[in-house]
Amino acid sequence: MDTAMVKDKRDSKPRHIVLTSHPTPYGAKPIPIHWGNADPLKRGPLIGTLTDPTHRNVIGTHSGSYAIYRALAVVQGSLKTDHRADLTNTSPIVNIGPYPSWADPDKIVALDPFGAVVGDVFTDYFEKGYDIRPTIAITKAHINMPELYEAAAKGRLKLDGEIMKENGDLVVTKAAIEPVWYLPGVAHRLKVTESDLRHALFEQTGGMFPELITRPDLQVFLPPIGGVTVYILGDIAAITDPDRPVAVRVHDECNGSDVFGSDICTCRPYLVHGIEECIRTAQEGGAGVIVYYRKEGRALGEVTKFLVYNARKRQTGGDRADAYFERTECVAGVQDMRFQELMPDVLHWLGITRIDRLVSMSNMKYNAIVNSGIEVVKRVPIPDDLIPADAKVEIEAKKAAGYYTEGEILDVEGLVSVKGREY
Ligand SMILES: [Zn+2]
Repeated sequence: MDTAMVKDKRDSKPRHIVLTSHPTPYGAKPIPIHWGNADPLKRGPLIGTLTDPTHRNVIGTHSGSYAIYRALAVVQGSLKTDHRADLTNTSPIVNIGPYPSWADPDKIVALDPFGAVVGDVFTDYFEKGYDIRPTIAITKAHINMPELYEAAAKGRLKLDGEIMKENGDLVVTKAAIEPVWYLPGVAHRLKVTESDLRHALFEQTGGMFPELITRPDLQVFLPPIGGVTVYILGDIAAITDPDRPVAVRVHDECNGSDVFGSDICTCRPYLVHGIEECIRTAQEGGAGVIVYYRKEGRALGEVTKFLVYNARKRQTGGDRADAYFERTECVAGVQDMRFQELMPDVLHWLGITRIDRLVSMSNMKYNAIVNSGIEVVKRVPIPDDLIPADAKVEIEAKKAAGYYTEGEILDVEGLVSVKGREY
């Protein structure tokens, strides 16, 4: 093929490549970041722009894995490489923070607490031509899930017209958060050295980010992973009011169940139960918080997850609770890669210091939350009548492995007898 015939659809700029993997030859040092400083101007803006590489003071770029789609838009000529976001009217619909936790470099290491307000606090930088992007967006929505309307019809929830409308709509505030990792803090949280963390990230991404190795002066990394969405029900002020109750469900994405209603696990029923507890708590004058992490299949990904389903269903003796974790470990090498150590940061960003109702049975989530300094008053397990028949394998295995329950924990013989559907 004659390559000269291929029309370059990109901007007609010279096609030179700027390597960011070594300190720039221009002499200017990037704007320093003082992580954990209460004053955003002293903390410094995080600049992941690609429009001026000399301004960059972080490793990686915005939008997580969607950066690859951006590359496709650029190469096809539909997106100009020098496009800058017009942030007019995009600022948060409601105000969140600042809270004391924002100034504690140990409490928040995996997101930028000032990520929603860069347009307000860094105006001087914008005027000087810096391209700073929000990593958090806060908006409002009405959401509607048929199970919740059904719960109201059965009398478990009331349609109060404010938190839950007559048609079952829930009035929510929601925030989307991109991960922003302060590498020394993440290393400390995971109890590894920063150097080991940088090497592992570099190697396991196939060398995607050379600066992890060559730029120890850059301490903030925008990892190419999914972020987190927060749904808040009720009065946001209640979250930090010691006299008002707070309910929290921390949920890790499960597309098969959450969206498509697959019956092999308890994810959607438990998510809905979490929202139900949040509605009740909001209606008592408190607030409910759903934290939704993009950690599909225990952060192993959906291909691994489906492979495990097959291995479970086809093993000798069928799909059974005693072999539930073992099958995952055989395929993935580990039982779980969610690393809940970084999860509580979002709770600290919201200013949460006490959770009256934690709607989760996960001991890993509970331990991470409590170890981060948040008090948990009561843990709320999923009610038995919400567990799909085929999901008994999962829930009994989890309870036997230490997940929180107020009910019976099966012994080995009992676990062998809990069986799921076969393919
Ligand atoms: Zn699931």
